[in-house]
Parts: sequence; structure tokens; C-alpha cells
Amino acid sequence: MTTATTTPILDGFDLTEEQTMIRDMVREFAVSELAPIAAEIDETHTFPKSSWDKIVELGLPGIPFPESLGGSDGGTLAYAIAVEEISRVCGSTGLTLAAHVSLGTYPIFAWGGPKLTEQYVPALIRGDYMGAYGLTEPGAGSDSGGTRTTAVLDGDEYVLNGRKCFITNANHAGVFICTAVTDKSLGSKGISAFVVPRDIEGFSIEKGEQKLGMRGSDWASLVFEDARIPKDHLLGPEGEGFLTFMKTLDGGRISIGALALGLAQGAYDEAKKHAYERVAFGGSLAKQQAVQFKLADMEVQIQCSRHLIYHAARKKDQGVRYSKEAAMAKLHSSETAMKVTYDAIQILGGYGFSREYPVERMWRDAKLCTIGEGTSEIQRLVIARAIDREV
Ligand SMILES: Cc1cc2nc3c(=O)[nH]c(=O)nc-3n(C[C@H](O)[C@H](O)[C@H](O)COP(=O)(O)OP(=O)(O)OC[C@H]3O[C@@H](n4cnc5c(N)ncnc54)[C@H](O)[C@@H]3O)c2cc1C
Repeated sequence: MTTATTTPILDGFDLTEEQTMIRDMVREFAVSELAPIAAEIDETHTFPKSSWDKIVELGLPGIPFPESLGGSDGGTLAYAIAVEEISRVCGSTGLTLAAHVSLGTYPIFAWGGPKLTEQYVPALIRGDYMGAYGLTEPGAGSDSGGTRTTAVLDGDEYVLNGRKCFITNANHAGVFICTAVTDKSLGSKGISAFVVPRDIEGFSIEKGEQKLGMRGSDWASLVFEDARIPKDHLLGPEGEGFLTFMKTLDGGRISIGALALGLAQGAYDEAKKHAYERVAFGGSLAKQQAVQFKLADMEVQIQCSRHLIYHAARKKDQGVRYSKEAAMAKLHSSETAMKVTYDAIQILGGYGFSREYPVERMWRDAKLCTIGEGTSEIQRLVIARAIDREV
């Protein structure tokens, strides 16, 4: 079994001292603690609780949040770099962190107001429990305006009925951000967002299906059967839940892009190492032009992805609109991760096909990136609509 190399990869990206320090710290942690168990958690479909505890100890869930809430005020770019470095050796753990921060914590921080923010965000940053995000339903994924879960106000509570599926971190979450229809006649403007505490009557978690990849990341379904949520757990104004969720996905796409970038970089590192070590036809494989061209294309596409992701992250940190940039970053990185991991298997030949080497796992993990938080087709729609607005 090979391990990830430590090729210098970030020259020319103008990272601050703090961002560089976070990158180096997370890289060291990922290589020493996550890489050795990445194959095992994939094989056994096990969520690595001990890895999560160490991630919390390192303060990674708090990177993009203010110090006043227990975070480190490191910004979106430093957080994206942390996801990238983890995913370079373990996509599942990268997804766990990305979903917890971007989907489970950020919406409460951004739209929760002082009460919900105080109640949940410090606890999520401390890792008292995980956060999860319930948008997708059996009948509504890309078309999330077609949400069928309902919420009816009854006195001081909303009563929720419906079902969410494919929800990352659900089994370990203490709090869930979910959408439900409060006024059917208004279409997507009748969808509201709720902060759902785990221990309420009528709310349960159902085991998720077996997965192609990301098997060390947890997922499950959420079931609401007359679940009563306190009225003050409405996230933002009634009817603005769809918008809130779309804005959340803008940020989430930067982290899924970073996840895809990490997977691509990890597979490229393995392919390059193998190409230079493997002897065939009297020299190293890396002397074969067909292999050289694959490595060249991988390097170009990875660097393009990195530029797009870091650019989108910087725009988010500047507080300017970044949804088009986030969609471009996610689309490019996800498609690059698919291509790079696929070509890495080819460069490793039979070893690439073998489960003893990490590239086949990276290829399976990369597929999630073209689906979760908006498929590649939906990213193209977001980009095309932004272009349309600009004309
Ligand atoms: C590992 C994993 C983790 C996930 N975690 C979460 C989570 O934490 N929370 C959550 O809410 N969801 C989660 N999801 C769900 C994910 O966001 C959805 O699967 C995704 O949005 C696609 O929705 P769908 O599966 O219903 O597919 P569909 O929307 O049915 O799409 C099927 C296909 O049709 C295409 N398509 C649909 N509409 C259009 C269109 N208008 N134009 C062109 N093509 C289109 C899609 O691109 C896709 O190729 C997760 C999924 C996975 C695989």
C-alpha cells in the first residue's frame, strides 16, 4: 500500500501565514492519522468517530466562524484548504467535515439570529454533536422546489410531516436544518427552513442504503411524523427557506469543490509516484509519452480547479456575490476529480484496479462530487443563469 506524498502544491496561491500553517497542520494530521485507516473505513462502511474527535480537537469545525462563538476566524479559504488536505487521503472524512460545517453549522450562524446561534453554533464548533442538512426528499432532489414535507403552525409549535433522504452525518447529528412547505399555494416561496433538535417526539432516523463510495461517511433518512418543532426554531422568516437553502449550497459548493480537489490531488500523487517508480520497456513508465501526457493533463486540471476554488472562497470572504464562482469551482473540480482518478487507475494498471491501492477508492468517492449539493448539470444551470443575468 502506498501513502500520499508531500509534493509542494500551493506555490503561487498567495496564502497568508495562517492559511499556510493550517494547511501544514491538517496535511500532517491527515497523512499520519487518516491515511492509515482510510481503506479500512471504506471497506467496513465505518464512520471513524475517533478521527472526528481529533478533527474537533484540532479546531477544524470552527475555522470559518468568529472567535466569539468558539471559532478561529480563519475564513472560508483556510476551511476549504482543510477539507482539501483531508480529502487528499480520505474523501469520506472530508465529506464529514464539509457537511458538518457548511451545511449543518453555517445556516444557523448566518440566519439563526442571536438565540439559535448561541444555542447551537458553539456546541457544533465544540463537537458536542454534529450538524446535518435535510433538503433532499425521495421525490425532490435537484428540483428541491418540489419539497413535500409540510409544516403547519399549531400554537407555539410547527408540526412537521414528511421524509428526507441521503442526509450526511444524520446518525451522529444533534441538530438538523430542514425544509418544509408552510404554504403550498406559493410554490418555492412557500418553503420554510427549520432547526430541528434531534430529541423531539415524532422525529426519527432511518438507516441509509449501502453506498458506492464515501463509505466512511454516514448518511440516513429523516422521518417526520407529527414532529413538533418550537416556533422559535424557524430559521429566518417564513417562506424564505428555499432561498436560505440555496445560499447555503453556494457555500457548500466551495467545500465540495475542495473535497474533489483533494481527491484529484491524492490520485495524481499516487499516479505520479507509480509512474516514476514502475519500470517497463527498459525505463520508468513516466518516460512513456502516453503516460507523460496524462500526468500533464492531470496537473493542468488540478491547478485550474485550485484557482477556481480559492477564488470563490476569497469572494465569499470578501462578502460579495459568489454563487457563479462557487458553481464553476464545484463543476470543474468534480469533473476533474472523476477524470484524474480514472486516469490514475489506468496509470497504475492492475494495481490501480486492486483494492490494495487507494486510487479505485478515490474514483468511487469522487463520483459523489458530481451529485451532492447540486449535480454537475445543476451547476451548469446555475452558471448559465448567471451568464444570462450578466448579458
Ligand atoms: C453521498 C451523498 C450525500 C448526500 N448528502 C446530502 C445531505 O446531507 N443533505 C441533502 O439534503 N441531500 C444530500 N444528498 C442528496 C443530493 O444532494 C441529491 O442526490 C442531488 O441533489 C440530486 O438529487 P436526486 O438524487 O434526487 O437526483 P435527481 O434530481 O432526480 O437527478 C437525476 C439526474 O437528472 C439530472 N437532472 C435533474 N434535473 C435536471 C435539469 N433541470 N436539467 C438537467 N439535468 C437534470 C441530474 O443532474 C441527475 O443527473 C446526498 C447525496 C449523496 C450521493
